Amino acid sequence: MFDSYLKESILGRAIKDKKIKIKFYNPIDFCKPKERVDGRPYGGGPGMVLRPELFLKAFGIASSAIRRRGGKKTKIILFSTSGKKFTTAYAKTVAKKYTDIILISGRYEGIDARVQKILKAEEISIGDYVLTGGELPAMVLIDSISRQIPGVLGKYESLEEERVSTSEVYTRPEVLKYRGKNYKVPKVLLSGNHKLIEEWKKRAK
Ligand code: SAM
Repeated sequence: MFDSYLKESILGRAIKDKKIKIKFYNPIDFCKPKERVDGRPYGGGPGMVLRPELFLKAFGIASSAIRRRGGKKTKIILFSTSGKKFTTAYAKTVAKKYTDIILISGRYEGIDARVQKILKAEEISIGDYVLTGGELPAMVLIDSISRQIPGVLGKYESLEEERVSTSEVYTRPEVLKYRGKNYKVPKVLLSGNHKLIEEWKKRAK
């Protein structure tokens, strides 16, 4: 699920240049033969719950690997629909404060709540919607946090990150003709007046 995205573009380059390293541990690999990765929820209800022991085992192996590599400070994040909302500000803080991050992704009805309690993991949500699993949230965090690690973005991209404060952007043509109508680039962007342009960008959404 992660391979194609992590091979491309900025993240692909960051991994190749050893600016970031990503390892995967699949709880299902810690199941004994014929054992299931999930169980029925206590108290009833629909869906299945992921078994805690498998996640704790995976966590143990991941954290020993981090220790062996000399990781100094590890952040533990567990994806949950009711967690704290993920933002760029959070990505910046985490990238600055921690050498390693363990991301724990759920599926089905989620992970047995004792995993979060034992590991004191911070519960994080990427938005008010329910996804099938924590894989997409993990990719979102990997992408967003990596961008905050020095050397991951090129010089030009870093500069843009700091400077551009709007998602309303334009390129050629100056006048776009579509179904009999003309769509023009805002005049101020053609003015060459950097002060006015910056002010416009601040006002634009
Ligand atoms: N009924 C469960 C609930 O509301 O939490 C649904 C769990 S969801 C199908 C399975 C897993 O995907 C969750 O345990 C979580 O790890 C992950 N997940 C789904 N949506 C998410 C979101 N918006 N943010 C973070 N993680 C999410």
